[in-house]
Amino acid sequence: MIVRLRGEMAGLLLVALGGCATNSAKTDSSAAARKETTAAMNPLLAPWQGPWGGVPPFGKFKVSDLKPALEAAMAENLAEVDRIAADPAAPSFDNTIVAMERTGKALDRAGAIYGIYTSTMSDAEVQAIETEMSPKLAEFNDKIVQNSRLFARIAAVYEARARLGLNAEQQRLLWLDYTNFVRAGAKLDDAKKKRLGELNQQLAALYTRFSQNVLAEESTQMVLLDSEADLAGLPAPLRESAAAAAASHGKPGKWAVINTRSSVDPFLTWSTRRDLREKVWRMFTSRGDNGDAHDNNQIVADVLKLRAERATLLGYQTHAHWHLEDQMAKTPERAIELMEAVWKPAVARVREEVADMQAIADKEHAAIRIAPWDYHFYSEKVRKAKYDLDENDLKPYLQLEKLREGMFWVAGQLFGLRFTLVSDGSIPVYHPDVRVWEVTDAQGHHVGLWYFDPYARAGKTSGAWMNEYRRQSRVDDVPVIVSNNANFVKGKPGEAILISWDDARTLFHEFGHALHGLNSNVTYSSLAGTAVPRDYVEFPSQLVERWLYTRPVLDRFALHYQSGQPMPPELVQKVVRTEKFKQGYITVEYLASALVDMKLHLAGATPIDPRRFERETLSSLGMPSEIVMRHRIPHFGHIFSGDGYSAGYYSYLWSDTLSADAYEAFLEGAGPYDKAVAQRLRDDVFSVGNKVDPADGYRAFRGRDPSIGALMRKRGFPVPGGGAVSSDQKATH
Ligand SMILES: [Zn+2]
Repeated sequence: MIVRLRGEMAGLLLVALGGCATNSAKTDSSAAARKETTAAMNPLLAPWQGPWGGVPPFGKFKVSDLKPALEAAMAENLAEVDRIAADPAAPSFDNTIVAMERTGKALDRAGAIYGIYTSTMSDAEVQAIETEMSPKLAEFNDKIVQNSRLFARIAAVYEARARLGLNAEQQRLLWLDYTNFVRAGAKLDDAKKKRLGELNQQLAALYTRFSQNVLAEESTQMVLLDSEADLAGLPAPLRESAAAAAASHGKPGKWAVINTRSSVDPFLTWSTRRDLREKVWRMFTSRGDNGDAHDNNQIVADVLKLRAERATLLGYQTHAHWHLEDQMAKTPERAIELMEAVWKPAVARVREEVADMQAIADKEHAAIRIAPWDYHFYSEKVRKAKYDLDENDLKPYLQLEKLREGMFWVAGQLFGLRFTLVSDGSIPVYHPDVRVWEVTDAQGHHVGLWYFDPYARAGKTSGAWMNEYRRQSRVDDVPVIVSNNANFVKGKPGEAILISWDDARTLFHEFGHALHGLNSNVTYSSLAGTAVPRDYVEFPSQLVERWLYTRPVLDRFALHYQSGQPMPPELVQKVVRTEKFKQGYITVEYLASALVDMKLHLAGATPIDPRRFERETLSSLGMPSEIVMRHRIPHFGHIFSGDGYSAGYYSYLWSDTLSADAYEAFLEGAGPYDKAVAQRLRDDVFSVGNKVDPADGYRAFRGRDPSIGALMRKRGFPVPGGGAVSSDQKATH
């Protein structure tokens, strides 16, 4: 069992990972009887019916069944846990740790449907249920962690671990259960537990207010464009969407730049009106920082104060030390060491990028110094001048369905997996756009199911992500069910859907998460698939992106939607060359946010004035004046809408260090399709979930710790001499 710690439900929004953690249930006969009664009343509580261990019961329930199902399932789970805690037999691995693995199955099932509906079918009814249920789910977690009789049994098993003859996976599970409980306050006395509960509830309320404030400014603020002159430089599709945005905000006949990244970035890229670019940029970078009812500065200060108190209560130096302890990085110092190693070369690259842009501006007699609102605009001019690549030349070769076939082909080459569309209607779906594939291994054995929900619609979260409906487990003897979700614009029936190169990369990325889930081969579901530390989970997905760039995929699957011809080699070359374009900007805007995040959470009890802290920290880092943080503090939802990424925004860079280094293992071998390297990748990374320490798993795969060189090469930065970033420290046992 993994307790849902630190707002894991919110993870879905930000990473490409969704999913609720797993809970689970040894049942005695009375519990089984009770289960049948509740199941008869609410279809979401019943065991899943159908092939392959059962499938989600779409079409058999109403949205209004969600709340009573979750409430009944939580109550059932608490009762199951109480029975374990009250077991008269002496605590053993079986009657405590494995028993916990078996609890909460009804909550897993209802929670999976809840996760799907809140992320992909979120209408007013679903939102109301979510508002009501999310604090209740948080409170449920505290009730399990604070069950002192249960923890006493876990601790007793943990103390006896050396004498129990446990195998490595069992030891790891025991260590994780024990550690998760301790980290969540199980060892505290009653007074401190009470205070911890108060802190968690106050924090949850502040997170909700923080994200609602940002949402309010994103959905109501806009820069209105009045005339043709205000549209200068904007391509036709952008004008159309700006007109539609104005109309939907009650300003028909005008054009609007809404205060969201997807609306702001294209305007900053194409508008030739520098004054309007500045106006739009100021609006976007001031979200949550306008000194009005939606200002987030005081909320941030309060969150940091409460987190510092919680860390002290739990016995840690700072919130950052608490968060990093169970991550691959282990300590804030090691995360900072990696970030600082990349920071200077990235800033140096920004200087070069700015010089290139300034040269073009000077040549055009623009009489300006490059400012933050000029970056996208002039870098686009540099891209055309230097690489002669136009997105419009690429798109006809990038058909969504062909690329999907390409991903399947890669999964076959690397892992021996085969995908077969289930088209006989035997598996129900929650929306007609969703399709389901059965996944089998090289021997033809069933592995799991892959649901694909590719199109945008009202009520669906923007972006793309992977979700695990059911984790693999030998204890439960159930195969895995995963999904990939995206927001492509649905075409007319029979018409090819053409996507951008970035979208194609995202498609492969999310499929990488799916393969991480599908390849899982563990005994306990708490350790399955993507249930790994956050600074490790993006490694498999970032790695799989690289196969999009390989010739077999481009030659076989990047086919012109009309002629069927593969992408010409010179176009392939341009794509590969532009991979390193603008990496200075991309790295610096990201790293500035990651470093500020870490430093905020290392400040301990020192009261923070967010504006001053941000200004002084960036100044001491030597932040280039032409760039702003990707997420300024007052709207940094990753770290203030929940605990998940707090002191954890560095995770993307950490994972990318691994993915860059891992890909070079293939290049040092026979290439991207080297069978021996692929076998190791499966054995030591994709199949092991969290049953081995990630640093050990990586070392087994690579034969050494990762080094930073590959990351620097991938981003086009100079490679320092040496610089291993991984650890010799071990977390476990
Ligand atoms: Zn991801």
